[in-house]
Amino acid sequence: MPLSSVRADTLVTHAGLDPERNYGIVNPPVYHASTVLFPTLDSLEQANPFEQVYYGRYGTPTTFALEQAVTELEGGYRTVSAASGVSAVTTALVALTRSGDHLLVSDCAYAPTRHFCDHILARFGVKIEYFDPRIGSSIGQLVRPETKAVFLESPGSSTFEISDVSAITRAARAASQHQLYILLDNTWATPLLFRPFEHGVNVSIHSATKYIVGHADAMLGLAVCDQASHRQVKETAGKLGTCAGPDDCYLALRGLRTLSVRLRRHQDNGLALADWLARQPEVSRVIHPARPDHPDHELWRRDFTGACGLFSIVLKTCSRAALAQFLDHMQWFGMGYSWGGFESLILPTNLNSARTATTWNEPGVLLRIHAGLENIDDLISDLDGAFKRLRAAS
Ligand SMILES: *Cc1c(COP(=O)(O)O)cnc(C)c1O
Repeated sequence: MPLSSVRADTLVTHAGLDPERNYGIVNPPVYHASTVLFPTLDSLEQANPFEQVYYGRYGTPTTFALEQAVTELEGGYRTVSAASGVSAVTTALVALTRSGDHLLVSDCAYAPTRHFCDHILARFGVKIEYFDPRIGSSIGQLVRPETKAVFLESPGSSTFEISDVSAITRAARAASQHQLYILLDNTWATPLLFRPFEHGVNVSIHSATKYIVGHADAMLGLAVCDQASHRQVKETAGKLGTCAGPDDCYLALRGLRTLSVRLRRHQDNGLALADWLARQPEVSRVIHPARPDHPDHELWRRDFTGACGLFSIVLKTCSRAALAQFLDHMQWFGMGYSWGGFESLILPTNLNSARTATTWNEPGVLLRIHAGLENIDDLISDLDGAFKRLRAAS
């Protein structure tokens, strides 16, 4: 069966496996490697880090199995793995821009992505300009002769705006005279819920730390590249030395096998929590793209095949003491960074000065919620207790 006609939940179960290369054992072994030996001078001189096992920093068969699996799932050309999601973002940006270039970045991009652009790329002479994630085809008006790349993230971090990726890539390319690279942080959708290459993207980036690893026990990034971008991204990864550890690649491969079933549960729990939260008088807004009351819901329905478990709510203004009563003493919701593991999380998020091309001036407290795999009734009663403490403290 050609890969393009295999359904995603079958592919996620089998992609990247090659038992015949390993005594018939289902999963690839974890190769720990630095030195790779070449038996002859000829083989040493002809060795090619792009086409074979060459040196640990360029990957091992464990790395390649994961890269192959994610490439097959997204329909890219090849994937470059990196030590973290941030490292996949920064490697791709360094690979595709140079001094004097203009880089357009979505205003709702993950905060550390913005920090890297503002504080590192800008120091090396790349001009950064932020744009409204809902810009659509008007992006054409921002493209200059020196515009080299557009960086998208959809849904946006914390605020979940959906970008019209097709309209943006089409208009940006139409306004450009030369090769323009479109990068997309696809972490929220995972390789299963949005198909970047069908929307004109060159590099699809994942913090595999989140749902791909899925168990809150490894840091890992993946940049799925098309043919036009792969060589530069792979070369740059080798030069920056941003390689992923073999155990972490193994954990990501293991996590990948259950991604489809986990995501369904994350989605169901997330939507049920969102519904319940929308009925609480202290909640002024639920921000979840899969809900009909989300401003970009129609676009989400057009482009995505599902939702993960991550969304936000806005809690009406309350005292810090009341907020602490709400957030402390939770039984199942943990407070901490990252998301995409099996467990539920809740995190107050401060967007002050985190947006420059759009404005976030909604009163109240923005809370990011990750719906884990627990029983929904237990999660709701945990939140119910939190609202009772909030009311008692107000
Ligand atoms: C977490 C995250 C990253 C960074 O990933 P790390 O693996 O933590 O470095 C990048 N983009 C998005 C959207 C994220 O949520």
